[in-house]
Amino acid sequence: MKKSPLKILYLYPDEMNFYGDYGNVLALVRRLEWRGLEANVLYHKIGDSLPKNVDIIVGGGGQDTGQLTIHADLLRIGGGLHQLADNNVPMLMVCGLYQLFGKRFVTADNQELAGIGIFDAETIGIGKRMIGNIITETEFGELIGFENHSGKTVLEPSQTPFGKVKLGYGNDPSGHNEGAVTKNIYGTYLHGALLPKNPVLADALISHALINRGEDSEKLAPLDDSLAQKVHIDARKRKQA
Ligand code: GLN
Repeated sequence: MKKSPLKILYLYPDEMNFYGDYGNVLALVRRLEWRGLEANVLYHKIGDSLPKNVDIIVGGGGQDTGQLTIHADLLRIGGGLHQLADNNVPMLMVCGLYQLFGKRFVTADNQELAGIGIFDAETIGIGKRMIGNIITETEFGELIGFENHSGKTVLEPSQTPFGKVKLGYGNDPSGHNEGAVTKNIYGTYLHGALLPKNPVLADALISHALINRGEDSEKLAPLDDSLAQKVHIDARKRKQA
């Protein structure tokens, strides 16, 4: 029987797509296609209703102004996102949306935005911009990317970080923890786009989605990732900025 396409939902494509974060969706789509699986990309825009059945949700970064624009709508769909989170739907939230998946974000000019509280974390805009190449050690090995944020994220003791920073800042200027992970939801400051450079994470999201659908993810055929591996080797030689 032909399998139905995997539904990938991208949140706020107009406001939250910094440094080509949409490339994360393209990487998922291609990696599915290369394995003979179909993808259907959906977009959530302000005012849309949140689809009940999606397989993977992706969100990107944005300026503080973008976060202000989408903020009320995100709170509106927050309950639905929590429900999907409880159903183990895998999600990847980069930078601006990572911050709003926490409990609270206070911008550098002191505007307070409530978050949807999927992560036990809060973010405060500080005078320092944390910008440059970043490498973080995660359960999927070393991930490489580029960060640019002035938001400093503080995790509550109950919140598991996504990784440990090896180069760069991550959640805060101390350069210890990076991102947050809860269930199958990954929050991170890594732009890149992240997934084309770190296919292991793309495949983890795909595997979670296939498991949820009751489809056999062990059959995720290996792909030729030699280009991504070369990029990785090159990134390790780079300095922070
Ligand atoms: N505006 C936020 C910050 O600077 C998010 C930036 C981003 O998404 N790259 O902290």
